[in-house]
Amino acid sequence: MRRSRLVTAPFQQTPPTLGNQYADDRVLRSYLARVFPADALREIEPSLIEMGRLAGDELYQLQLADRLNEPQLTQWDAWGNRVDEIELTPLWRVAERVAAEHGVVATAYERKHGSLSRVHQCALAYLFTPSTDIYSCPLAMTDGAARTLLFSGNETLIERAVPHLTTREPSEFWTAGQWMTELTGGSDVGLSETVAKEQPGSETGEFRLYGRKWFTSAISSQIALTLARPEDNPPGGRGLALFYIETRDEHGRPHNIEINRLKDKLGTRKVPTAELTLNGTPAQLVMGTTDGVRNITPLLNITRLWNGISAVALMRRGLALAFDYAGKRVAFGSTLSEKALHMDTLAGLQAEAEAAFHLAFYVAELTGRIEAGEMEEHDAWLLRSLTPIMKLITAKQAVTVTSEVLESFGGAGYVEDTGLPVLLRDAQVLPIWEGTTNVLALDTLRAINATESIAPLQSVVTEMFESVHDSPLLDLARISQAALTHAQSWLHGVTDRSQREAGARRFALTLGRAMELALLIRHAQWSQDHEQDNLASDSARRFAQAGIDLIVQHS
Ligand SMILES: Cc1cc2nc3c(=O)[nH]c(=O)nc-3n(C[C@H](O)[C@H](O)[C@H](O)COP(=O)(O)OP(=O)(O)OC[C@H]3O[C@@H](n4cnc5c(N)ncnc54)[C@H](O)[C@@H]3O)c2cc1C
Repeated sequence: MRRSRLVTAPFQQTPPTLGNQYADDRVLRSYLARVFPADALREIEPSLIEMGRLAGDELYQLQLADRLNEPQLTQWDAWGNRVDEIELTPLWRVAERVAAEHGVVATAYERKHGSLSRVHQCALAYLFTPSTDIYSCPLAMTDGAARTLLFSGNETLIERAVPHLTTREPSEFWTAGQWMTELTGGSDVGLSETVAKEQPGSETGEFRLYGRKWFTSAISSQIALTLARPEDNPPGGRGLALFYIETRDEHGRPHNIEINRLKDKLGTRKVPTAELTLNGTPAQLVMGTTDGVRNITPLLNITRLWNGISAVALMRRGLALAFDYAGKRVAFGSTLSEKALHMDTLAGLQAEAEAAFHLAFYVAELTGRIEAGEMEEHDAWLLRSLTPIMKLITAKQAVTVTSEVLESFGGAGYVEDTGLPVLLRDAQVLPIWEGTTNVLALDTLRAINATESIAPLQSVVTEMFESVHDSPLLDLARISQAALTHAQSWLHGVTDRSQREAGARRFALTLGRAMELALLIRHAQWSQDHEQDNLASDSARRFAQAGIDLIVQHS
């Protein structure tokens, strides 16, 4: 007779683990070896190794332990006073210190390696971001605010705020918010209703602001840049002015600001995103009494760069975990890493992530060159056109890749205490904030409007291919060039405004994919020649096979 037995040592799943996130990252290391002179790379590497260690170890462990904590808003104290205090979670408090100490903003301003300091800073941000639950959000705005103030030439505000925004001393470090979106519009920010009333007798451009701001992230920040309409200014974006606010008074209370509530969001749940009422908030003009939307552009360019870096960072984290897990999880008699289909699926995701990586870091290079005054031909045009393209395409890739990453874990990818679902939830904000996909696609058309041609992009891509001699890579280069040629003929051929708008997203995505492929090919050739490594070439092939030209004509 068969006896049923109680199984006392059941099978357990082995969780994925992370190593040093710099040492383990082939793509980052290979890229830095190509763009940095060897001595400069030796100088910056210790900072990357340390950030890679923190990201794979202490910060990651803290992130898992902090999973259920969220920022808390206390509006009233026990005695009936309005206090509007925000308590951040332990992870974010540590993240703030680590970010300051390791110069995750400061590195770009210290500029020890000229234009490449921006690349160094982005590499630090890329390593830091996936273990700190979107602490990248306040850092992006801090970086953007520093850049905007420096650009404004407003010496009083530069002296007052920039040293705090770019310090490595945690006790001195300030972060910044960016308050643009109102109920009337996030994309159509020209509809903003906040009114700025000049203080009688003010000689230094002091105003009081009255209005409601509908999405204000990182509300714990010490300063904010915001838009408001000085009384008697005309409607629309031109009638708005750019203002500087210090959010708390000398007692630490909100400066005539009421925090009405924190948003209950799908993701970015560690980020305190508030709805505010500005009730006579003291504010200073940053530059001029009009053209606020134009004057805040330097901030948006930087936050869009951070968005792209965050997108590739989240993809990288997902794939680091997925590849590790594939080597551990057994199904049908062998590990997932021995299943041709599973590895083919991951390799496709890796190709998307790798292509996105090169575009995001290329925009970092362009940003650095312009900041350091080391501009090359076409750089200004390229930065203006590629910033929206890079932001929109990398954000979409991040959502796709992190969604697939969750599936690669099976049911575990859907279960909260694995720490995996947050990757997808956080990635989902990337196409929404800092300009939605459609809004940025239209912005791409605007950027190209002046020349009505993508010739500078085509000539830069042709230049990139001059170093390519591997025959399969040359075949791929032709795919990138053909997509650009098609995009150019679409631009010339479609003159009807509404048809152009309807096709803007496909146009921008095609430019983005063609550029990503070109950058990947250039790097793959270098990697073959200098590292005897074909992995980047494999990614280029897969990426091209997934489709580059997305332009279709709808009659
Ligand atoms: C978590 C989170 C944090 C945020 N933090 C901040 C912050 O700190 N500061 C801040 O200022 N804002 C912040 N925002 C707001 C964000 O920037 C806006 O939500 C975003 O810009 C979109 O604006 P909207 O919500 O008004 O959408 P809408 O502008 O109403 O857009 C709705 C849809 O219409 C599309 N659309 C709009 N115009 C066009 C057009 N002309 N053609 C085609 N399609 C179009 C958009 O693509 C979108 O799909 C945050 C948002 C989120 C989700």
